[in-house]
Amino acid sequence: TKWVYTFGDGTAEGTAEMRNLLGGKGANLAEMSNLGIPVPPGFTITTEVCTHYYANDRTFPDDLKDQVAAALEHMAKLTGRNFGDDKRPLLVSVRSGARASMPGMMDTVLNLGLSDATVEALGEEAGDRRFALDSYRRFIQMYSDVVLGVGHENFEEVLEEIKDARNFTLDTDLDPDAWLEVIDRYKKLVEAELGTPFPQDPLDQIWGAIGAVFGSWMNQRAITYRRLHNLPAEWGTAVNIQAMVFGNMGDSSATGVAFTRNPSTGENALYGEFLVNAQGEDVVAGIRTPQHLTRAAREASGVDAPALEEVMPEAFKEFAGICDKLEKHYRDMQDVEFTIERGKLWMLQTRNGKRTAKAALKVAVDMANEGMITKEEAIGRIEPGSLDQLLHPTIDPNAERHVIGSGLPASPGAASGEIVFTADEAEAMAGKGHKVILVRVETSPEDIHGMHAAEAILTTRGGMTSHAAVVARGMGTPCVSGAGGIRVDYVKQTMTCAGRTFQKGAIVTVDGTTGEVLDGEVPMLQPELSGDFGKLMEWADAIRRMKVRTNAETPADARTAVNFGAEGIGLCRTEHMFFDADRIIAVREMILSDTEDGRRAALAKLLPMQRGDFAELFEIMHGLPVTIRLLDPPLHEFLPHTDAEIAEVAKVMNVDPEKLRERSESLAEFNPMLGHRGCRLAVSYPEIAEMQARAIFEAAVEAGKKAGAHVIPEVMVPLVATKAELDLVKDRIDAMAKAVSEDTGVEIQYHVGTMIELPRAALRAGDIADSAEFFSFGTNDLTQTTFGISRDDAASFIGTYIQKGIFEQDPFVTMDPEGVGELVAIAAERGRATRPDIKLGICGEHGGDPASIHFCEKVGLSYVSCSPFRVPIARLAAAQAAL
Ligand code: PEP
Ligand code: MG
Repeated sequence: TKWVYTFGDGTAEGTAEMRNLLGGKGANLAEMSNLGIPVPPGFTITTEVCTHYYANDRTFPDDLKDQVAAALEHMAKLTGRNFGDDKRPLLVSVRSGARASMPGMMDTVLNLGLSDATVEALGEEAGDRRFALDSYRRFIQMYSDVVLGVGHENFEEVLEEIKDARNFTLDTDLDPDAWLEVIDRYKKLVEAELGTPFPQDPLDQIWGAIGAVFGSWMNQRAITYRRLHNLPAEWGTAVNIQAMVFGNMGDSSATGVAFTRNPSTGENALYGEFLVNAQGEDVVAGIRTPQHLTRAAREASGVDAPALEEVMPEAFKEFAGICDKLEKHYRDMQDVEFTIERGKLWMLQTRNGKRTAKAALKVAVDMANEGMITKEEAIGRIEPGSLDQLLHPTIDPNAERHVIGSGLPASPGAASGEIVFTADEAEAMAGKGHKVILVRVETSPEDIHGMHAAEAILTTRGGMTSHAAVVARGMGTPCVSGAGGIRVDYVKQTMTCAGRTFQKGAIVTVDGTTGEVLDGEVPMLQPELSGDFGKLMEWADAIRRMKVRTNAETPADARTAVNFGAEGIGLCRTEHMFFDADRIIAVREMILSDTEDGRRAALAKLLPMQRGDFAELFEIMHGLPVTIRLLDPPLHEFLPHTDAEIAEVAKVMNVDPEKLRERSESLAEFNPMLGHRGCRLAVSYPEIAEMQARAIFEAAVEAGKKAGAHVIPEVMVPLVATKAELDLVKDRIDAMAKAVSEDTGVEIQYHVGTMIELPRAALRAGDIADSAEFFSFGTNDLTQTTFGISRDDAASFIGTYIQKGIFEQDPFVTMDPEGVGELVAIAAERGRATRPDIKLGICGEHGGDPASIHFCEKVGLSYVSCSPFRVPIARLAAAQAAL
């Protein structure tokens, strides 16, 4: 088996297509090398070695040693350097590289190959002995930490001791003599800890590092990251070994990171940062303030420190050209790392750049307009769920802003919440329903769980490419980074700024769009849907086959949904209309009456209110289809609970409160979700269905006259299991339509259909379709009843099921395509067999979930219906499903 692929000097054994085998980093290094872009030579050990490693008790395949030796030989030829050579030593970096980027999750070793024998040669070459000795001690520290398990804090301690003894404050104060002492003490420390000396043979070093990188695939951070991002452990990581180049060899050296377009806004301009005389880690660490790449960016920011374009114009020109070439080649925005070693440019990495939802949208629309990609590709590139970020609130510009601090606008959007100072606390508080803002000096991969739980993230150190900034943008969480004026005290659990001290739990607002931190909670505005958004939606609408409706019962929700492009109402849950203060008593009266007359009296009070509700919805939807579902209440939700509530209803009904309490208690159920709800209520008390049907038809007549819109209401019967149930209710509806028609002299057009939300209904869809003109899949209940998992009680164990790999996803979020999906497919097929033009839709939560929407397209539903804020997501997902 071929386990090792070399690259460098304008050729490579691999290509970008081989990312499964070589990992993202390795595949792109090979591709860049093939493109003739300057890449330090090296080789990639494949992900198959990782698989072998874990399948065979953490051992390597037999022939790997020879292949690595050959690859090192190849590197030696290209670089003119050899491992352990005391004139021109070969120094390498050893890095992980999985199929998907997992920033900072796995181990890296730099400067490998340095030893007592080679360190002076590096000093000679660089003309800087201090630099070489510093590199060596960094290597000992990093290698010991990552490979040998001697924590880096041990080394920090030694360094501090030596600095104190010699009265030095900065690392840069140390002279070669001092560095030699550091190195000596470091080596002694390792030997004391491990009982063996620090490895001096570069081959021992490299095998140690390879093992450590493969081993880090199974470290806790990496496991957590994979779980959060749904990445399978079977993928494994590759290992990339590459000749070192140094950005810290003096003032003609530099290192930096760049995006070919702005990853926050999507603007088509090179964007990034660099540092003169520094190593890559220094740029992200946020200790020195990085400089801009372009003159334009520097001028726009008003900073004095010169841009790369100004200090190294030649290297910059070559760099800008390579960025352009890479973007055109990959046909997507690239995120690159580069180093300039004494004037010579080297590219260390390229990958498709992570970006905010706003930038993703702009880049996709721009690239389609530039002709770089097709409209279909543009549509395919936007993760539908990410649109959520564009639909999120921003701070009302008219709101009063008490700014208490500011930093970089690292991830857009705004959020308010209680400040907490540790990731664990953020997770715990959020679990209890609190909205929290995670405040840290800086974040690290260990904080991921807390970052997920937080509404927003605030750091006091670090730039636009700091861990907090990159991760927050990826998650769509607002973030302000590097707010240097804020002091965080982890011990006291406070933050101090603007002359005030804020205790844990204090409420602040983080505005990731401007970089400001505000005192207290601040009024927010709903987002404007920008031009790019409209454009992409227009393209999506032209491609999708399925319609997108909304689940809405309030006028406000219906209007929001129409603004977001809803093409009708797929589900109006009438029970949600019954909680309003003006009617809850009448509703309770209706439920608690033990006579039909009593119920009819209460219903008469509700009729005009319902008619008004429906008429308003019909007007807002202006001729678009509206599906109104008959009452489907878990009854217990409506029963009076307190003495005061009972007394109130008793008074209206003119009955003894004690009697009423008894009646109320007699209505209590053990399993309300499987109890006297849905059409069962209409079977027991048909007068309720009659009232609602009358309200619907009268409203249709009224709205039709007023708005001039031709309204054809769709009346939907919930929780049907048998055709007989549906027929019984349908007869009442039909009779009511006739009655209203006679009363008003207006001919009433309408449709009667049913929800399919019980397995029996799905299986008997053939005969149910005889009576139903449409089906709407209620996949919330269908999931509940197919799995036998209570919707209300699932949360306590679904997480465990997902963790143990029994469920890939929460079936209440993403439709279970095999079980629940099969029932949907069966019902669709049997329904169509009976009634070929039957209209099929979905109105469970799954109607707004992209993966489930793909499934709906596959079985040929005519529409999906979802909550208003998910309408744009559904429009895009439906287009992607149709591609
Ligand atoms: C469903 O069951 O999927 C549905 C839409 O109805 P509800 O959530 O109101 O029970
Ligand atoms: Mg339901």
